[in-house]
Amino acid sequence: MSGWSPPRVARHDPERVHVTCACGATYSLDGWRALRVVGEHVDAEARLELRDCACGSTFGVATPRVRVVYSVEPSPRGKGWVVWRRAGGGDWRAVGVGARATVCITRQGAEALVERSRINDRGAATLLGVELVEGVGR
Ligand SMILES: [Zn+2]
Repeated sequence: MSGWSPPRVARHDPERVHVTCACGATYSLDGWRALRVVGEHVDAEARLELRDCACGSTFGVATPRVRVVYSVEPSPRGKGWVVWRRAGGGDWRAVGVGARATVCITRQGAEALVERSRINDRGAATLLGVELVEGVGR
């Protein structure tokens, strides 16, 4: 096929909520969502959605995917439970206020803390325009 070029990929930017095709046509996010879907590709890093512009060419929007994993473990101090969180391929960090881990007396308490943290993560992901992928503990 002559003149074929790979689909143009725009980054979902919640600050400037519009998507521009190579032809110059600009769509709001709602306008973009109204276009015909022609494909989707999902991998560990992003969800790429391909749609047809009114000009006939295919272009895509990539939404970054962030993997967040939680783990509940006995506190290193020997009493209670600590919740750990890891985002992407980063380091495990204890969930707490500031740099201090919250030590939960019961495992049930630690699991409730995981639930609250998940809700916060979902909210943050929505604000940032990323897709949250939850994993299971280490
Ligand atoms: Zn176009």
